[in-house]
Amino acid sequence: MSTTSELRRLAMLREMGLTPVWVTRDTPPIEAPLSDAQPSDAQPSDAQTMLQRTPQSASKTTSTQAARSSPVVRSIDAAADAEIDTRRAQIVQMDWPALNAAVAACTACGLHASRTQTVFGVGDVQADWMIVGEAPGADEDRAGEPFVGQAGKLLDAMLLALGLHRQKNVYIANVLKCRPPGNRNPEPAEVVRCAPYLSRQVALVQPKMILAMGRFAVQALLGTEASIASLRGRLHSYEGVPLVVTYHPAYLLRNLPEKAKAWQDLRLAWRTLENGAA
Ligand code: SF4
Repeated sequence: MSTTSELRRLAMLREMGLTPVWVTRDTPPIEAPLSDAQPSDAQPSDAQTMLQRTPQSASKTTSTQAARSSPVVRSIDAAADAEIDTRRAQIVQMDWPALNAAVAACTACGLHASRTQTVFGVGDVQADWMIVGEAPGADEDRAGEPFVGQAGKLLDAMLLALGLHRQKNVYIANVLKCRPPGNRNPEPAEVVRCAPYLSRQVALVQPKMILAMGRFAVQALLGTEASIASLRGRLHSYEGVPLVVTYHPAYLLRNLPEKAKAWQDLRLAWRTLENGAA
């Protein structure tokens, strides 16, 4: 950033009350691999937890495996796979109005039953920046817009520090378009069924940078179960678009010292765009 824009950014951060935690004197080089241990993020991912088996669940799995080897179950699985492929083929053809309508009417997973409304996405559909979160919470479910409430305010402050505004030059969406009841973690089957919508949103926006926020968004976009701590600090890619991993604003609200790391992630994304690496 130029000196002028840096001063403007610092002034904005000060105004937002973020300066003491966002600006550190010993900020490490952005591109340097991050080797610092982050115990608060180092616990097994929820996806991993879901996959970890207790002795009881192991015996259940054995009987489940036996059941899944039956011809009837295999044909049901094949039918489900075919249905997912058919939906994906339809969604990949959709323009914005068709995609919006498809999401609003979607009953492809069980989350449709408990939602107040779908949460499609918001912002500039020709933006260079795209922010991807994981799933709507209670506030988003009520408002029909991603990243509202306190986490949304923090995201807006982070975007402002980069000269971005959710209505102007950034597009914001979630991996899941419906709220998991009680804000529980998304289930893999729900992610699989909802993923084609996000994929189409990315194809339509054609962003130059994706900022993936939060563990489930990161894991869904990158197809990994690795922790955010192990993935941040370097560039990734989603469907050919450069992607930077960072913490979800809701997590940052609970772990204020991590804001400095999130700021490093934003700067990595910013510098990648500025240097024309995207
Ligand atoms: S979460 Fe996605 S796949 Fe499930 S009902 Fe909502 S829009 Fe459809």
